[in-house]
Amino acid sequence: MSQAQPRQSFTIHAGRALCESGWARDVRFTVVDGRIARIESGAEPEAGDERHACVVPGIPNLHSHAFQRGMAGLAEQRGNSDDSFWTWREVMYRFLDRMTPEDLHAVAALAAMEMLESGFTRLGEFHYLHHDADGRAYADPARMCAAIAEAAAETGIGLTLLPVFYAHSGFGALVPNHGQRRFIHDLDGFARLLEGARAAVSGLDEAVVGLAPHSLRAVCPDELLRLETMAGEGPIHIHIAEQMREVEDCLAWSGQRPVEWLLDHAEVDRRWCMVHATHMTREETTRLALSGAVAGLCPITEANLGDGLFPMADWLAAGGAYGIGSDSNVLIDATEEMRLLEYGQRLFTRKRNLLADAATASTGEAIWQASLKGGAQALGVEAGLKVGRAFDAVSLDLDHPSLCARGEDRLLDGLVFASGRAGIDCVWRFGKQVVSSGRHHARDGIVRRYRMTLDRLCA
Ligand SMILES: [Zn+2]
Repeated sequence: MSQAQPRQSFTIHAGRALCESGWARDVRFTVVDGRIARIESGAEPEAGDERHACVVPGIPNLHSHAFQRGMAGLAEQRGNSDDSFWTWREVMYRFLDRMTPEDLHAVAALAAMEMLESGFTRLGEFHYLHHDADGRAYADPARMCAAIAEAAAETGIGLTLLPVFYAHSGFGALVPNHGQRRFIHDLDGFARLLEGARAAVSGLDEAVVGLAPHSLRAVCPDELLRLETMAGEGPIHIHIAEQMREVEDCLAWSGQRPVEWLLDHAEVDRRWCMVHATHMTREETTRLALSGAVAGLCPITEANLGDGLFPMADWLAAGGAYGIGSDSNVLIDATEEMRLLEYGQRLFTRKRNLLADAATASTGEAIWQASLKGGAQALGVEAGLKVGRAFDAVSLDLDHPSLCARGEDRLLDGLVFASGRAGIDCVWRFGKQVVSSGRHHARDGIVRRYRMTLDRLCA
């Protein structure tokens, strides 16, 4: 299994482009073997150049559970009791009961295709569905990792695979429950999984393997220490402080809040991505921001699950880095994640343009740039349009009514707040064009197979 070879060498002329150094006009990109070999600005287009009106960098999606795309919209009916994250989790456990590696490939391919169409060019897959339906390891313990890698190869999306270590059902090393049987490892088994995961992604361009302790409730302190060593210099992701019940359980167990506990008991630094980190005191927020860790924010899922709002004002005041993720994949859209991130803060503070920063007055551009930088850090890669980097890029349709007649300083505002993904024309990942006119090249076949898979899973 290997991704299709990109064209050896080609040139793209963009009327406008958002490069690492800022906006430029009449930009020629020379792309060789997937990477940017040369950038010239103020350049006339030449014969053979592919012409585009505007090119911006593709965005890393730092947090996803691809299989959950299959249950999008299936947990939106009110049950008998108060619905919450925890009742949603019961629906999710039932949904994944029957999923095979082939099913996971089909569902993950649909998710990855939609990510690419919406402007995401790399997937950070927080992957915890490891074993067969009885909870036994497959003959190849990394078979489900391979299914994710197959979906990445088929769609062309970049992959940072984060195999999840999951051992307990609650703080204090509680025994896992029946719904969790497909997730569970001991540390030796997890080491074998990591080895298999590295082999599974070896045919992909620029793949990264990190690891992810699922949450503080799913690992015990000794295991966490071992996982930090196993991670080496690679990314470490963890779900943290997503729900108030988790904060209360952590307090009851340790006398400390989750983020406070982690900062005191682990070497939290730039390798770490704290997914959600919704419920923090001001002191926790400042300490975590200063650690260099990235906050992994998933506004659509956090709204869908009723998690709460991230303390963005305090985070930005402390210079914290953040990126965005599609998490439950109930709706996959990079621009909508960004829009909702800003709108949540507006609704909460009754103010506007809260995520604009000192570098630009454009809120859309500030969120795009922060998501690019924070997402790349969290996924263990370098991103952005600069010589030597992968050509992971998105072209915009400047004829779209929400993108026409404006200067560069308002283009990403138009995309994020007005056109949404409809303003996206083409997408390239590692120099390979995978989306044209907003459609992935393999869309029809991927959707057909996904429908057949869902018919069976939902029967
Ligand atoms: Zn998650």
